[in-house]
Amino acid sequence: MVDTPPRTGSPATHDTDLIIIGGGPAGCAAARMAASVGMRSILVEPDRLCRNLYRIPALNNVLGGCTSGPELADSIVAELKSTELCRLELGRHVTELQADEVRVTVTVDTGARITAPYVIVATGVGPLQPCDVAWITAPDGLTLPPLWQAEADDAGGRAFLVLGGDRPIGTFLRANPTTDTRLLVVYPAADEYKIEEIREDPRVALFPVEHLTLSMAEGTSVTAVAVGQDSARQTITADAAYLSIGNAPTAPPGDLIRGVDGYCPPTDQHPRVIVAGDLRSARFQRIMTALGSGSEAALHAYYAARELLTKG
Ligand SMILES: Cc1cc2nc3c(=O)[nH]c(=O)nc-3n(C[C@H](O)[C@H](O)[C@H](O)COP(=O)(O)OP(=O)(O)OC[C@H]3O[C@@H](n4cnc5c(N)ncnc54)[C@H](O)[C@@H]3O)c2cc1C
Repeated sequence: MVDTPPRTGSPATHDTDLIIIGGGPAGCAAARMAASVGMRSILVEPDRLCRNLYRIPALNNVLGGCTSGPELADSIVAELKSTELCRLELGRHVTELQADEVRVTVTVDTGARITAPYVIVATGVGPLQPCDVAWITAPDGLTLPPLWQAEADDAGGRAFLVLGGDRPIGTFLRANPTTDTRLLVVYPAADEYKIEEIREDPRVALFPVEHLTLSMAEGTSVTAVAVGQDSARQTITADAAYLSIGNAPTAPPGDLIRGVDGYCPPTDQHPRVIVAGDLRSARFQRIMTALGSGSEAALHAYYAARELLTKG
């Protein structure tokens, strides 16, 4: 983990003990853990708390008995709202993060500044678009919705072209167990390992490709020309196209160290900047890992403030 920073001086010189940027599972877990050890926090979130969880219809890898994202989100939100030591700044986003020897300073979109000894950055990821990846050629400016936004009611009996083999495909299939929607999944070699969980589903047709050229026809129908990994060309038509390409990190500007892939490795950061959740790396992007890393990040700040990090 990061080095122990210098002493912070009087707590009265800061607005709070800990700033948390992002109100997903990682940020919410950080706020709860911080409160449990007596630390005040300010959590900044532009949307509603746990906004991504509200988009996950079925869960099968979270302990505690919740079987849907909204169920889990509701219980987290209720706990956060009753956490007196956490001040929620909802409807605001962070525009700048600065870290120096004695404090972090976070600027929000109103121009207001908040200071604290430590900041936890848990801003997660957002969906990549066709123009972001080399294996797709698409009309200029085309943006498509992620697959999880496809409504089950719209999906029945239709064929969806799904770009990329990322995991939300499995979520869609589990959430709509009786739908007869066909998913025509076009994916590059790098996604091969991700499609194992959907390979046997009869509603899925798999198209491993080197390249895809996409054109949107009249209405909502879609035509694409796929060049397979054996160089064979194939034309695919569908009723609509959705994204499952993957995500890109959404770190706020300022004093964050980004890797070549845009992610923010926790071990590379300024001693006062602690990264949690999906923003850490392209791997380990799960609810339970976000909760765990957010909790650990809060304890990291707690021990660092007491200069106990290097003492075991
Ligand atoms: C369709 C779908 C299905 C999924 N299914 C599962 C599943 O079944 N099981 C599972 O374990 N995981 C699943 N996941 C992954 C899981 O949702 C994530 O791993 C988890 O939400 C990550 O939590 P996080 O707190 O790191 O980030 P997020 O949940 O992404 O939260 C980040 C928050 O930061 C906020 N933010 C961004 N920029 C700023 C800024 N500048 N200032 C302030 N706030 C900012 C955002 O508004 C957002 O609320 C799924 C994800 C998707 C999209």
